[in-house]
Amino acid sequence: MTPTGNPHAGTGRLDAQRRRCDLDALAADPRIDLLVIGGGVTGAGVALDAASRGLRTVLVESRDLAFGTSRWSSKLVHGGLRYLATGRLAVARESAVERGVLMTRTAPHLTRAMPQLVPLLPDLVGAGQAALIRAGFHAGDVLRRTAGTPAAVLPRVRRIDADRTRRLVPGVRTEGLRGALVAHDGQLVDDARLVVALARTAAQYGATVLTRVRAEEVTGTGARLVDTLTGEGLEIRAGAVINATGVWADQVDPSIRLRPSRGTHLLVDAAALGHPTAALTVPVPGSISRFVFALPQQLGRVAIGLTDEDAPGPVPDEPQPSDGELTFLLDTVNAALATALTRADVRGAYAGLRPLIDTGGGNTADISREHAVLESPNGVITVVGGKLTTYRRMAQDAVDKAVGLRGLPGRACWTARLPLIGAPGHRDSRPVEASGLPASLLARHGGLAHEVLAAGELEPIAEGLDVTRAEIVYAVTHEGALDASDVLDRRTRLGLVREDADRARKAVEEIVGELTEA
Ligand SMILES: Cc1cc2nc3c(=O)[nH]c(=O)nc-3n(C[C@H](O)[C@H](O)[C@H](O)COP(=O)(O)OP(=O)(O)OC[C@H]3O[C@@H](n4cnc5c(N)ncnc54)[C@H](O)[C@@H]3O)c2cc1C
Repeated sequence: MTPTGNPHAGTGRLDAQRRRCDLDALAADPRIDLLVIGGGVTGAGVALDAASRGLRTVLVESRDLAFGTSRWSSKLVHGGLRYLATGRLAVARESAVERGVLMTRTAPHLTRAMPQLVPLLPDLVGAGQAALIRAGFHAGDVLRRTAGTPAAVLPRVRRIDADRTRRLVPGVRTEGLRGALVAHDGQLVDDARLVVALARTAAQYGATVLTRVRAEEVTGTGARLVDTLTGEGLEIRAGAVINATGVWADQVDPSIRLRPSRGTHLLVDAAALGHPTAALTVPVPGSISRFVFALPQQLGRVAIGLTDEDAPGPVPDEPQPSDGELTFLLDTVNAALATALTRADVRGAYAGLRPLIDTGGGNTADISREHAVLESPNGVITVVGGKLTTYRRMAQDAVDKAVGLRGLPGRACWTARLPLIGAPGHRDSRPVEASGLPASLLARHGGLAHEVLAAGELEPIAEGLDVTRAEIVYAVTHEGALDASDVLDRRTRLGLVREDADRARKAVEEIVGELTEA
């Protein structure tokens, strides 16, 4: 249903004006097919799935899109090699299939093939472990093929010599280096940008996407929605309610039992590792399936992660890395580097909580990453667990369950064939080849770069930062950013390094101020 008076209805444009119109339209007619709670990758995926089936869908997010775990990931679209190593074939296969869908159809513009390189340093990787890793890599290659992902998208496993290893990761220790094993996985330019693309595509298919709206008193047939900007509330009636609130799922539905696990990354300048173009993969001493990765990122940084720590107790808005985690990450990666990184090299650090289902006992690292769709005694349908890579499948399962249990109308799921906004094949996308636009802008906006260009100047928001003024404007006019924090911390990721955010803040605040006063 198209709310009257909404100037952007039917488009993928989210802004404060649309939000106000949508809230008014809901107050006038609060009966919908599906209420989705949570604007992380899972909830945004559910909203897209439901809206594209023709269901009248409302997504509410209490803070901002990608406010929770979905912005703290390793940004890998992975084929589940780690799950293969521990015998969890179904999880590994599902990951490989969904990785292929993302990289070839739904979001090729936001993903790229990332070489993962295990350096063959005898004191780091013994002959036995090298054989195991090689076997695992080849098994991963079989998964890729059976998932139908071509080698042109994700190249085959290979062994490279020491020279080539040094070219890919110049910072690697060279003494005794016998080359490296290389496998490819997918990498997102940024996780929060995937969430924004999903939410905007959902809006284009008719979903109402509301940030700064919290769901309270949730039942299987509705909830009280509170606009956290005004304090006003409205009662919504829904055919079904899907709880996609990640580590907050047990607060919305107390019948859910979670066991959050913290994962931490630290950020260093790419220059500190010689500007690597592959992910350095370092085995964690004493484990056959755990590695620390040094992952090249946008904005000239390398992210080093990650940990897996039990994180009981209240869920903080922004989880904080512990000192011990930083020491562990530096010590592990330093074993493979020519020049050890020190605390002085650390430009930023972030932590996120995995929404794992409590299965009792064991380490959090051993808890299954499979997702679950559960119906609570009061009829709320919760979708939880899983991972970023498998969001689409999680959404499909959750909406199938809602449709099955509540007899909702609508067609079958078709999101595996539905390009997200900015992807090639999407109706608003323009070809990016020969556009002459900066590579970083294209990597973040794909086929919508022309819209960004029309929004403002291509000059950097502050000297030395690879984010343009046009992107800041576009974040407010098209991507639903409501304040400077939305822009710094989620639409761009300047907030990951405090120094970058501080340099950009004044100019960002000015732009946001001008646009939101208008
Ligand atoms: C350190 C780390 C690294 C990871 N790396 C990867 C990776 O490389 N690849 C991969 O595939 N997966 C990875 N994952 C897993 C993946 O990030 C998560 O599974 C996924 O992001 C969870 O998304 P979500 O939407 O379920 O939860 P969230 O992103 O947390 O979203 C939940 C949202 O619900 C909102 N909310 C809560 N309560 C309410 C309410 N009452 N009303 C309205 N809104 C509410 C919150 O504000 C939040 O935005 C990683 C996880 C971690 C922790």
